Amino acid sequence: MFGLRSFTIGRFFGIPLEVNSSWFLVFFLVAFTLSTSYLPAALPDQSSTMHVFIALVMTAAFFASIVIHEFAHSLVARAGGLKISRITLFIFGGVSQMDDEPKSPGLEFLMAAAGPGMSLVLSGIGFGALAFLRGAGAGQVLIIPVEYLTFINLSVAIFNMLPGFPLDGGRVLRSILWAITHDMLKATRWASRMGQLLGYGLIAIAVIGVLNGSLDLIWFAVMGWFLSTLAGAAYQQQLLKVRLSEVTLASIMSSPVVTVPSDATLEEMAHSYFLGGRHSRYPVVAEGRVVGVIGLQALREVPREQWAATSAGDVAHTDLASVVATPAVTVDRILPQLEPSGAGAVLIVDDGRLSGIVTRADVIRLVSSLDHQ
Ligand SMILES: [Zn+2]
Repeated sequence: MFGLRSFTIGRFFGIPLEVNSSWFLVFFLVAFTLSTSYLPAALPDQSSTMHVFIALVMTAAFFASIVIHEFAHSLVARAGGLKISRITLFIFGGVSQMDDEPKSPGLEFLMAAAGPGMSLVLSGIGFGALAFLRGAGAGQVLIIPVEYLTFINLSVAIFNMLPGFPLDGGRVLRSILWAITHDMLKATRWASRMGQLLGYGLIAIAVIGVLNGSLDLIWFAVMGWFLSTLAGAAYQQQLLKVRLSEVTLASIMSSPVVTVPSDATLEEMAHSYFLGGRHSRYPVVAEGRVVGVIGLQALREVPREQWAATSAGDVAHTDLASVVATPAVTVDRILPQLEPSGAGAVLIVDDGRLSGIVTRADVIRLVSSLDHQ
């Protein structure tokens, strides 16, 4: 995210929690503002050391609330059968990273509402604690931080429920539109437009605020810009996914495929295939059946003097499960295998026989042709 490193700091309910480097900046900013401006005004009797100490505790509790909000989303999503890869804290708060999108509007509704629902519960607990502390005659030093956290959680709930995709409220809106129209793409388009509008609205509030001297509102402009950009991108991404889900591998695969017999030696491969051919990866075939995949890196792993005595079958990558698909599979399903770090190609096998190959380049070409339609 933003090209900055992330660190995993723990694992809760089996879900890794990581922080992006950009988050340290916002942690520092919140703690700094609290200790140098908010707390000195709210608790003038305390020392500045005490202000720093309380500010750090409040900031930690603030981000703990954000994490609890994200876990509410993630645990509901997981209960609904979605896989959660991790939860990340970054400069604009928290995000639950899912491998899959919800398959039904009902699950999307519950999942999206769970986060703000949890923030409301936390703020409710805060109001309860405040009533108790006031009743017990507790000092301001306890009341002020609890009051702050109560309102923070209330604001988190309200902000996230703004009905613009990809905010939680926008997802709730999308799930409702999706349930009514039975058209996920149309629902995403409307909810994203609302997201863009809300983003512009926040920027307008910031401009008016700053012109009237409220510099704090500049944060609204940052959030608004972020929201309108994300809303536009989220719709484009959804649109592409839907379009790719309508294209089968059979329609874009290269066929026939240049294959390597499993008894070809690496010496032969180096000259006839890797030097002479255009490809860096070939299926290895024995008796008409695909038995593996061999890539250029096999030549690097075997010493030069052993090339003549080593066959393609000996060193081929034979774990085919991750690189094989049937012709009827749609393009959206194979995107993970085409990541630069992965295999970079998918073999299309029909009834045990190799009928084609789809590479990363084929999909990039398809995406750019869709863009021009
Ligand atoms: Zn949320």
